[in-house]
Amino acid sequence: MQHKAINLGQGFPDFPMDPLLLDLVDKAMRDGYNQYVHMNGWTALREQLSEKIFSLYGNRVDADASITITPGATYAIYTAFTTILQPGDEVIVFEPAYDSYIPNIEINGGIAITVPLDFPSYRIDWNKVREKVTDRTRAIIINSPHNPTGVVLEENDIQELRTVVEGRDMFIISDEVYEHLIFDQKQHLSILRYPDLLERSFVTYSFGKVFHCTGWKMGYCVAPPDLMKEFRKVHQFNCFTSNSPVQIAFAEYLKNPDTYLSPSILLQEKRDYFLEKMKNTPFKPLPTFGSYFQLYSYSDISNESELEFAQRLTREYGVATIPVSAFYKTPVNNSVVRFCFAKKTETLDAAADRLHLVS
Ligand code: PMP
Repeated sequence: MQHKAINLGQGFPDFPMDPLLLDLVDKAMRDGYNQYVHMNGWTALREQLSEKIFSLYGNRVDADASITITPGATYAIYTAFTTILQPGDEVIVFEPAYDSYIPNIEINGGIAITVPLDFPSYRIDWNKVREKVTDRTRAIIINSPHNPTGVVLEENDIQELRTVVEGRDMFIISDEVYEHLIFDQKQHLSILRYPDLLERSFVTYSFGKVFHCTGWKMGYCVAPPDLMKEFRKVHQFNCFTSNSPVQIAFAEYLKNPDTYLSPSILLQEKRDYFLEKMKNTPFKPLPTFGSYFQLYSYSDISNESELEFAQRLTREYGVATIPVSAFYKTPVNNSVVRFCFAKKTETLDAAADRLHLVS
């Protein structure tokens, strides 16, 4: 604010959302859907989600027993940790990590065991994971497409994950909020595709991310019935139920698959547009295959720390970014910053014009 910077830092779109969805929420409110709905979420919405899951991932998930609507994905992740963790339990977390994971583990008395993603590919070295797994390991949290890197899991990662958890009393938390923001014909390898892994998983989603309404804070969690039963014991006394008119609107909106299939196309266009605009700047892009984000290396510009560089970029050039070191507990400096490209063309143009000047 102080520097009137263009905000490519925080992960939220600055373009308008689909007016149809706004009309559906408006209609739900005017039709009188303004009181609590069922604790587990509006039944028609859960049924619609179950259909969507079946059509995309070929797995029939029970709408009643396995899906709970939550006020956002962060809440669902927190609730999952609260459901499974006892003090002293260890959780494998990859760094860089979305910022809520480690505090969510620690507030539940757990211990985050960090595993760095390989630089610059930001892929998982599964041997490093195996080195950190012990009898105290209670869970592993994965995130694909990944924030902040945009890297997505491949089939070999799923196979490796399977070998890590097999025969162990370990849960998987799979944060799939960018499920429908995936590019270059990549397949989203949801845990929902793999019944043997889903058996021990909590899989979390966010409507806010996919439908460009992050401020609505609405999402859901999918888990097998026995785990979902425990999850709901926490949920019941934590928030009980989520916003009613928004759920009613989504139950209608999701009937048309274009609503959730088109965001990948839009965001890929935005990624490509920003890449083109940034071409002759001194920033070097790292590949992104999903999410709202693209990492850029500034190693040709400066050897400042990521925090110092990001602060100078805001102060001197008026473009806000996030230093990737902010997503690590372990001190790191790879000279990379994260840009959010989920922005209007004018915003991306204005930011790129400023970034051409950086030295
Ligand atoms: N997980 C990841 C990886 C995210 O990037 C975000 C949003 N920044 C969330 C979860 C949170 O989603 P919600 O707003 O629905 O809580």
